[in-house]
This record gives sequence, C-alpha cells and structure tokens, in this order.
Amino acid sequence: MQFSGGIGSFCAALRVAQAHGTDNLVLLIADTRVEDPDLWRFATQAAEHIGVPLTVVTDGRTPFEVFTDRRFLGNSRLAPCSIQLKQRPCRRWLREHTDPASTVLYVGIDWTELRRTYAIEAGWRPWPVKFPMCDPPLLSKEDMLAECRRLGIEPPRLYGLGFSHNNCGGVCVRAGQRQWLHLLRVFPDRFHAAERHEQQLRDQLGDVAILRERRGGISRPLTLRELRRRHESGHPAGQTPAHPETGGTRP
Ligand code: SF4
Repeated sequence: MQFSGGIGSFCAALRVAQAHGTDNLVLLIADTRVEDPDLWRFATQAAEHIGVPLTVVTDGRTPFEVFTDRRFLGNSRLAPCSIQLKQRPCRRWLREHTDPASTVLYVGIDWTELRRTYAIEAGWRPWPVKFPMCDPPLLSKEDMLAECRRLGIEPPRLYGLGFSHNNCGGVCVRAGQRQWLHLLRVFPDRFHAAERHEQQLRDQLGDVAILRERRGGISRPLTLRELRRRHESGHPAGQTPAHPETGGTRP
C-alpha cells in the first residue's frame, strides 16, 4: 500500500486490510522531510490501528534541495520533487523487496480523481495498481474524515486548516495562487521560507517562478514575493485552481 498520510490512503489501507488481512500488507510512505509534523502523528496512529508498522523510505532531500540540485524550479507542470522524493524511493523499495508478479500496489486516490488512474498505472509498471477508494461504496472526503474520527483517530490537521491535501506541509509547487495565499494566511513562516527559496533559485536560474499568470494573452512567471505583495496591497488573487496531489505519479 502506498501510504501517503492522506485520508484517502488511510481509508484505502483499511479496505485492503479488511479484504486481504494484514499478513502481507506493507504501508510504504515516503518522507520528503517537509511534511507537517501532524502527518507523522496521524500516520503512526493509523498504522497502529491497522496493525502494520510504517515502512518509511526517504531520498534525504527536501523539494527545494532537489530543485537546487537539478537547477530547475518545480511548478504545476513539472515537479521533479515528486519523482525524486516519492516515486524513486518507493520504486527502489519495491524493486528490492517485492516481485511485481505477486505484488499489488494500492493507491488511495478516490473516485473524484479517476482521470488520474491511467497515468498512475503507467507510472508504476510493471507493478499492477489498484484504487480501492474508486470502488463502491463511493465516499466523499467528509465521509472519510468522519470514518476516521469514528475509529477514534483525529484526521491530519491540514484538512481542518483548509488544505485539500496532507502533503509537504501544505507547501506544494503544484498548488495554484489560491492555495499559496491560503498558506500565507495559515502558515506565514512556511510561505516566507518558500519565497526565500524561490528567490535563491531565481538568483541562479534567472526569471523563473513556481507560479505563472496570464496577462494580455501572455503567460509569465509570477513570483511568490509578487503574489504576497499584491495580497498585502489588497490586489485580488488569481483564480488558479489548487492542485490535488498524493501518490504514484502523484506521490
Ligand atoms: S506534494 Fe508537491 S511539493 Fe511535495 S513532492 Fe509532491 S509535487 Fe513536490
């Protein structure tokens, strides 16, 4: 089970455990070193409830360290952090410990993200992938959060703080303007740190930015500093949709 620390992957792991037992179940989770501390509280409680210890893999770098190494700033179109920090460590573990002929990889995306399943399956080949939360009964995120509470486990706090996903502490280069502004309000220190990292990469790479905006038919980089300044001066934020990300080809 590719266990992301999100509510969907917890509910998926519950379904797998109910259907197949836990003797051969592995909860494989990648540590990007920037997860919200509460992710680890939740993941630990979830693993205890399921009765399977977490198997944690890590590249050892943070997303911005990956961008520095690769001289490329991740963004909504291309996020090498996801490949380097999640997919590669998980794939290495799978190669070393499993046989694709007798292993099924479970991913916790749900029925609202069905369009992503083909890419995820392609990304994990030759391991076959299943998506338990895309099968009936179809649950909403609220249903899953309620089920989690019913089991006596408090869901990851990022959901309650208004984030759609519990990964990278809410600091995701695939997020849109709205989520970045939400981050600025909820975790200003995390926003300012990302802003500094982005500026350091701009110093090295030139006019790059995590975000882009389209004005007068022209797409151009929009820095976090500029986004923050506009916000502080009351300029309306753009409507770039927030990114959904969790596993596989979304970790
Ligand atoms: S959640 Fe976002 S920032 Fe974190 S590894 Fe995935 S794409 Fe990168």
